[in-house]
Amino acid sequence: MSVRVRFAPSPTGFLHVGGVRTALYVWLFARHHGGTTVLRIEDTDTEREEAGAIEQIQRSLDWLGLDFDESPSAGGPHGPYLQSERSEHYQAAVDRLLAQGDAYRCYQTAEELEVARAEARQTDDPALPTRLHRDLTAEQIAAFEQEGRPAVIRFRTPLEGETVIDDLVRGRVVFEHRLLGDTVLMRGGGRPTYQLANPLDDLEMGITHVIRGEDLLSSTPRQKLLVEALGGTFPQTAHLSMILGADKKRLSKRHGAASVEEFRDAGYLPEALVNFLALCGWSWDGETELMSVAELVERFSLERVNPAPAVFDHEKLAWMNGQYLRALDAEAYANALRSYLEDAGSPLASSARLEELVPLVQEKLGAFGEFDSLVGSLLEAREPEAESWQKLLSDENAGRILDAAITALAGLSTFDADSVESALRAVCEELEMKPRQAFLPIRIAIAGSTVAAGLYESIAFLGREASLERLERARVAVASL
Ligand code: GLU
Repeated sequence: MSVRVRFAPSPTGFLHVGGVRTALYVWLFARHHGGTTVLRIEDTDTEREEAGAIEQIQRSLDWLGLDFDESPSAGGPHGPYLQSERSEHYQAAVDRLLAQGDAYRCYQTAEELEVARAEARQTDDPALPTRLHRDLTAEQIAAFEQEGRPAVIRFRTPLEGETVIDDLVRGRVVFEHRLLGDTVLMRGGGRPTYQLANPLDDLEMGITHVIRGEDLLSSTPRQKLLVEALGGTFPQTAHLSMILGADKKRLSKRHGAASVEEFRDAGYLPEALVNFLALCGWSWDGETELMSVAELVERFSLERVNPAPAVFDHEKLAWMNGQYLRALDAEAYANALRSYLEDAGSPLASSARLEELVPLVQEKLGAFGEFDSLVGSLLEAREPEAESWQKLLSDENAGRILDAAITALAGLSTFDADSVESALRAVCEELEMKPRQAFLPIRIAIAGSTVAAGLYESIAFLGREASLERLERARVAVASL
């Protein structure tokens, strides 16, 4: 049987780290087995839906390179893939369950349910309140109908026995039916609940494996019972543990970037994020960290998914991204950088000289987001950074140093990083200063900041004329004090 796996996000917000890790495991598992990936959007809860979320989810998956064979945009033989367009499927299932006696109408009001819940809390049958209308007489039903009470549809959960889930990550989990209660499948106005729409779609879409977050484990026995009542076989499941922040608390905004688009905007490479997320809860041999997408596909297995919570380590991600960036050849680096700058709307994207800057930045950048502050001032004239400029002005040796540097650089016959280096080293000797001391004002004059790429390379990149102009501008500022 060919593997069919789905990612089924609700469009209630951006695709966050936990969700995208699920999407990645779904994708890796399917690709490993030569199976099919399905993207289904669970948009039945219109109140919680956020405008633009569906597009954003699709954009994030595209950026990461996670292609889905069947989806709202790609279509497929089991569509539609938007739950909001599948109402008749849910209605048909409910009609069938009602006819079979596996579901029934429940006329409880919200207040009645509330009161029953409060009472049941003291008893050993906490699920009782959900079953109070399961055996109404024909007269009772007629009376409620006459009153015009709206009804919800509930599933008739067996009162005895248990459902056993052999989860591929969590092992055997046993659920007592008595405690499940009668699940609401459809609300007034024919609105299906998650507990109906999700397993029914899995059944109709031929899903073989459900890979999703551990928070949905408690829904699993209800969904299995429903699918079996409809004559289907429930898929195998793999419930993934939560992702925690470094402080072992549930990952949230507090811990820094949490959505895929934030990582993209900060200049992470999708390959690095994919590699990093793959290791958030899975390992191949417990050691190997850097793996290409092809290697991940080849090596991925649910057996090696760790049931313990994973920790999202931003530092490790930054390290990994740096590794990916350093491994690129100059042309690929420049291309990736340019498309990052384009997406960010940076005017530097159109610079013809980006590739020349690669040797200056490749060893230094942890993410493309740092590019602008490191070397942006070499590509366009900018106001110097205030705090650095102040340092330059308050350096009592700045005037002498700048004068000597101007003379030395003006007199060079060839102007490249090596000749600039010899010239500036000679300046240090002449002034009897350490490079650290002498180069500070030069660096600020050239780059407008104390944080900058290599000084000799920066000067060589700017060229003689622009370098001298910047040094002279600084010299004038110092002299005018
Ligand atoms: N739509 C559900 C959610 O986004 C997930 C459903 C599932 O994977 O079973 O939380």
